[in-house]
Parts: sequence; C-alpha cells; structure tokens
Amino acid sequence: KEVLLKVENAKAYYKLEKATVKAVDNVSFEIYEGEVIGIVGESGSGKTTLSNLIFMNMLKPLTLVDGKIFLKVEGRFEEISAMSREEVKRRFWGRDITIIPQSAMNALMPTLKMSKYVEHLAESHGIEPSELLRKAEERFKEVGLNPLWLNRYPFELSGGMRQRAVIAIATLLNPKLLVADEPTSALDVVNQKVLLQVLMQLKRAGIVKSIVFITHDIATIRQIADRMIIMYAGKIVEFSDMEKILEKPLHPYTTGLLNSVLTPEPEIRTRGISVIPGAPANLINPPSGCRFHPRCPYAMDICKEKEPELIEVETGRRVACFLHQGAKEL
Ligand code: SF4
Repeated sequence: KEVLLKVENAKAYYKLEKATVKAVDNVSFEIYEGEVIGIVGESGSGKTTLSNLIFMNMLKPLTLVDGKIFLKVEGRFEEISAMSREEVKRRFWGRDITIIPQSAMNALMPTLKMSKYVEHLAESHGIEPSELLRKAEERFKEVGLNPLWLNRYPFELSGGMRQRAVIAIATLLNPKLLVADEPTSALDVVNQKVLLQVLMQLKRAGIVKSIVFITHDIATIRQIADRMIIMYAGKIVEFSDMEKILEKPLHPYTTGLLNSVLTPEPEIRTRGISVIPGAPANLINPPSGCRFHPRCPYAMDICKEKEPELIEVETGRRVACFLHQGAKEL
C-alpha cells in the first residue's frame, strides 16, 4: 500500500490568552492511497482539529506545536508542516487535498452563482475558466445535479443539493485526498445516503483516491470506511481496520461508542452524545495518565499514573490501553 499522507507525533494546540487547549496531543498516523478512513469521536475529542492538521489549516490561535506532516506529491514526500498555511494552500489545496467543511451547505455566499466559484477556482490555479466550467457541468451530472444549476444562486438549491454542489466544485481538480468534516450531520437520512453514495462514486471513478471522513456517528461510516481512527481527548485511542473494530472493539472507549450507536435513542446518536458515563475530558488540563481513566470501568492504578502508548497489538490494529499491553507486568 502506498502512503499518501503521514502525520508524525503532531501536537496542535489552541493558544489562548489565558490557557492552552491541547486539542490534538501527540498523534501519528498514515493515510494510504485508495482508502477511506473514518475519524470518530465525541464533540471536543479533537477530530476537527485533526482534519485541519491534515491540510495544514493552521489559523491562529491553532498552532502546530510539534510534529511533522508529509504529503506525497508526484512520488515524493513534501513536508507540508515546514511550510506556511498560505504556501500549502497555494500549492496543494484543491489540487492534492480538498476539504468539505462542516458548514459547507451554508458556506456559500448568497449573492454568488455556483459558476462564480468555479471561475474563482480556475483563476487561482491559472486554468482557463471556460475549460473548468465545462468540467463542472460534467461533475454536476456525476453527483446527480442538473448542470444548468451552475447558473443558480445557492438559495435556489436545497441543503442536500448545495452540499453536493460544494463537493462537485471541490473535486474539480481531481484531488488525491478528500477530507469531509461531518458532511452528513445537517442532512436528513435520505440525503445522508445520497451523499455517501456520491463520495464513494467519486472514489470508484478515481476522481479522488482517498477519503477522510470525520464524524461523531460510527453508524454513518461503518458502511464505507476501511479503517477507523477513534479519538478521545486529543489522542488516538484506537486505529484499526473497520471490520476488526466492529467485530470486537479493544479500547473501552470504542466499546462505549459502539454501544451508543446501538442505543434506541436517536437523540443520543444525532447529537453525538455517548452513553459512557461522565463528561468529556477537559483539554486545558487533561486527566493524568490515560485520559479516559475517570470514565473507564476498567481503570487500574497504572492508568492514573502512566500514559498508554498507541501500539500495534496485532496486524492492522493499534490500541492505546494497558488492558491490551500486559499491564500486569508493568
Ligand atoms: Fe481504561 Fe486504563 Fe485502558 Fe485507559 S488504559 S482505557 S483507563 S483500562
């Protein structure tokens, strides 16, 4: 498998005047070409910060405090963490990496027709606008939209259609990696399904190679993800093949998340509230040792003192929990 992007020991903090929020704290992972990775966690687990990290969208007060991020461009790794946000944006956004932000449906300016966004994209990449507009017509068809709607204003399209229009435009330059941050959370069930189909279709057609899908709802991505990153309090607690996690989650937090999916309460699922007792960790002053220990039913003495590392416990399976690292011998 070819690595497309790798993150090594990254720490991304929000440096506020009076405090530092350790939103992503020492995480490492890689994204392979051709895979769909789900990033799952409660609100405040650091998953959106992680998505910003992937495409170096570091806007103050968010700062990359430590670590490296490499993106493969034309067969060579470029260290994007050594570049400014502006440079990464100019060189790689749209072409190599594209993001569908959480608020994509509402991010469009009401006074601009959809075609204007295509023209802007063309201009910023030195492409003839008419050429890209032709491509946009095709792409609109591919995502199930009428190409004539390029001449419409965003408010003339429904929420689900706007979302698809954003995806169509964001993928016009055939980026290798598409990062989608909670793209389905504002949609109804029917539109959620359509959106997942659209994303998978773009991947099958080779328009995008890999997809990172951020969500608080495991149920959304269980049908499409190859691997899953589970975040808790700024840390990756489990990173495994999807089937293995569904078959038997190893980290107690993953078990809790899966149980919340099974809850009959749709309220709990849609709002991303876990059925795990206790409140999410405070990221300004996180708990000592394993950050999950105040909520973990299996917490041992060592869990309060020492931080479990994310280690490979079997092929295709990484877990940060002493239960799976021979805690008794430690
Ligand atoms: Fe629970 Fe300890 Fe494992 Fe953390 S390391 S999840 S506290 S058992």
